[in-house]
Amino acid sequence: MPDCQSEDAGATLTGMSTKLIERGARIRRTKWVELSCLLCGEAAATLEGSTLRPRTPTSVRVNGARVVCGRCGGSLSPADQGERVHFV
Ligand SMILES: [Zn+2]
Repeated sequence: MPDCQSEDAGATLTGMSTKLIERGARIRRTKWVELSCLLCGEAAATLEGSTLRPRTPTSVRVNGARVVCGRCGGSLSPADQGERVHFV
């Protein structure tokens, strides 16, 4: 049956990528995203993994559940992004 065959192929692919992750366990990758203000263009913070690192202590402000620009209160939008590799 074609359905069974495609499921088998999927299981094999999953097994292979798990092995690749195990082999690369000595490297930790952290995605970072630079957040800049939509209104004034201030580069306010960098989101590293799940950690928000403000550029300066006053560059971001928490407005309810949202993080906004500390200078003008504008929305932050992702600008530059990349990946940092740590050797552990
Ligand atoms: Zn701003």
